[in-house]
Amino acid sequence: MPLHLYNTMSNEVEEFHPLRDNEVRMYACGPTVYDYGHIGNFRTFVAVDLLRRFLRQSGYKVHHVMNITDVDDKIIRNSARDGVTVQQYTAKFEKAFLEDAAMIGIEQPTLVRATEHIPAMAEFVAKLLDKGIAYRTEDGSYYFRIARFPEYGKLSKKDFSGMLDGARVDVDEYDKDSARDFAVWKGPREGEASWDTKIGPGRPGWHLECSVMSMEELGESFDLHAGGEDLVFPHHENEIAQSESLTGKPFSHFWFHARFLLVEGEKMSKSAGNFFTLRDLVLKGHKPSSLRYLLASVPYRNQLNFTFDGLKQAAVSVERLRNFRLRLSAGGIEAGCNPQIQTLASETIAKMRAALEDDLNTAQAQAAIFEMVRQANTALDSGALKKDDAGALLDALKKFDEIFAVLEDDDVPKMKKVLQWAQAEGRGHDITDSLRDALQSGQLSDSDIESKINEMKAARTARDFKKSDAIRAELTEAGVLIEITKDGIRWRRK
Ligand code: AMP
Ligand code: ZN
Repeated sequence: MPLHLYNTMSNEVEEFHPLRDNEVRMYACGPTVYDYGHIGNFRTFVAVDLLRRFLRQSGYKVHHVMNITDVDDKIIRNSARDGVTVQQYTAKFEKAFLEDAAMIGIEQPTLVRATEHIPAMAEFVAKLLDKGIAYRTEDGSYYFRIARFPEYGKLSKKDFSGMLDGARVDVDEYDKDSARDFAVWKGPREGEASWDTKIGPGRPGWHLECSVMSMEELGESFDLHAGGEDLVFPHHENEIAQSESLTGKPFSHFWFHARFLLVEGEKMSKSAGNFFTLRDLVLKGHKPSSLRYLLASVPYRNQLNFTFDGLKQAAVSVERLRNFRLRLSAGGIEAGCNPQIQTLASETIAKMRAALEDDLNTAQAQAAIFEMVRQANTALDSGALKKDDAGALLDALKKFDEIFAVLEDDDVPKMKKVLQWAQAEGRGHDITDSLRDALQSGQLSDSDIESKINEMKAARTARDFKKSDAIRAELTEAGVLIEITKDGIRWRRK
């Protein structure tokens, strides 16, 4: 079955095929770098990353472009408030965003920055003006006349036909009921950043930035445009209006929108005290891989209700997968091959693929790998799993991890960096004991622990209980809990 994706434009799940043979050209609206990214932002960015990875696993070459919105109302306001240039203001948050994205396993797309494309944006406005689609106002701003684009509203499915021609709005974000001619270019204002261009001084509107940069990188028509559901209107509606009225061609073929994340059932907001950045969670002692796993566990079109219980569950799931992989690689498995296990592995790969082809059903893909782990662990316990089966199971894990990217045991160094950042930023008071404990127990990697457990086993077989006890004490000290059962030695981190 080919990949099926929901297309906001058609309101249906459609078969996905790129416009060009084997290449997918996709554009995702990136962060507005005026603050640290929050977990809602990363919900959307992880969803896009999963899509990108799955397209690649499906054999496509993926040209994935993301913008860094480094000019917008909020940035202009904050940089003016702090008395610094736009670039000085955004540099810190862009760096933080890229670090956070890497921390949570997001592969970096081709990045484009609004401030690096200002002349092309002015050129675009000039062309709209030539065609009579945009008009200039006295303050040197330019507006898009939506009456010139009869299809306005086709993405958000809103009927704007009764709207007042010529009524204007100059802020970047506004709600559906105030659809008006929108600013593609804002004239210069006292104390605000401005660029000199062929259409006069000023700065681009946010919607224009994405139209210009996406078409510059990907062509006038491309395969997919992504963002969170809040971007459907006005941002994406306006991008379509500007781009299609200029080129006369369909802009993006597919529109991919991730549903908003809630926190404990509520809209996330600073005033409600339920607002978390990625770094806030790490300072509380949570691993980046737990958050990635959790964000990936709910298909992108379903509501993801973030809870701390859910985050803890996700940590247990990741641990289980990592332990299983270690168990397979640890050796000591009897020689031979069991065709049933080989079948289990290949069926799991097929199930994961079918799940992801079904509008990226990540929950089902995760369920498939866990069913495999459950059955394979039982087979390992009973001796039914043989040495030559390990490769097929490891292969299924690898396919899983090409998408979910949580198996590498690299949380501790990432968490250490966040701790150092908090100290440098004067946020030492936010460092919790849980983070310190996690770092302490994480001094030992999973494979360090496994090799100590193997030493312990060897000591016990040799009836050297003194040595076994000493290793156990050392592991306990490092925050690893040991349980000796009749089936062997089990461990988990505190
Ligand atoms: P911004 O930095 O506000 O421009 O947002 C960056 C991306 O995060 C956009 O695609 C937004 O749609 C998305 N986003 C913002 N808040 C949430 C949320 N609570 N859940 C999911 N996505 C979000
Ligand atoms: Zn955009």
